[in-house]
Amino acid sequence: MDLGLKDRVAVVAASSQGLGKAVALGLAAEGAKLALCARTESTLSVTAREIARETGADVLARPLDVTNYDAVCRFIAEVMSRYGRVDICVANAGGPPSKTFAETTVEDWHCAAEMNLMSTVYFARETLPLMLQRRWGRFIAITSMTVKQPVEGLILSNSVRAGVSGLIKSLANEYGPYNVLVNNVCPGYTATARLISLAGTLAQKQGVTPQEIEARWAGQAPLGRVGRPGEFADLVVFLASERASYITGVSIAVDGGAVKGLY
Ligand code: NAD
Repeated sequence: MDLGLKDRVAVVAASSQGLGKAVALGLAAEGAKLALCARTESTLSVTAREIARETGADVLARPLDVTNYDAVCRFIAEVMSRYGRVDICVANAGGPPSKTFAETTVEDWHCAAEMNLMSTVYFARETLPLMLQRRWGRFIAITSMTVKQPVEGLILSNSVRAGVSGLIKSLANEYGPYNVLVNNVCPGYTATARLISLAGTLAQKQGVTPQEIEARWAGQAPLGRVGRPGEFADLVVFLASERASYITGVSIAVDGGAVKGLY
């Protein structure tokens, strides 16, 4: 299948490692030009060089914090001066800490809203008008299976990411008439640094080993294992492609079947 991604310009946020990096690699392998960002310059530049070497893609990489709106604006302006267009934007960020409601401070709530809701708003504000002008675009948010089914101990993710789902559905309605498609991809338990760190936190709290926590997560999915970042990225790459031209406003889980509800 030709995905029609050759020479498309793709912004991938929070992409120095984990799911963002896997998505960037997948898009580059299909011929897209990349604009990557993440907080830490050293890891980001290693990732950018690795992707360029493996795929031959054109890669622009800039360190920034996705919660800083001015930095996002400067980044997208630089992408425009380098490539002259933005076709695809994948909004991603770090995940909020694992806490119960009782453990969560007001400051934690503000941080999670900035990190996981407002960062998506910032990238949408700066990239959707550019896609609208060209009457072609793909905006994809990376959220979590928590938008379909709350996960114990992740009160911040369970709450704040639901706002992202509402945002995505609303943007799909507003931008659909301009052939700009807006979707939400919801990872289940996927083997990245974030998952290892969450397993460590929960293991300490519960007095078990991180391996026991990981085995419990694997057991929640009918497929009996956690996911690989590349399996998640494959869906994002498809949604970013020409082939996904009649899919907008959906939240799709890539979770090995872990979500137990019907939708
Ligand atoms: P990760 O911790 O492995 O990678 C996170 C990336 O985000 C890194 O590149 C990091 O540099 C970057 N980042 C973090 N905060 C940033 C900031 N303020 N500004 C710019 N860049 C920032 O995480 P991951 O597993 O790849 O997860 C990506 C997203 O998906 C997170 O929001 C996470 O909560 C969510 N998620 C992950 C899983 C999973 O099992 N891995 C499951 C559900 C949801």
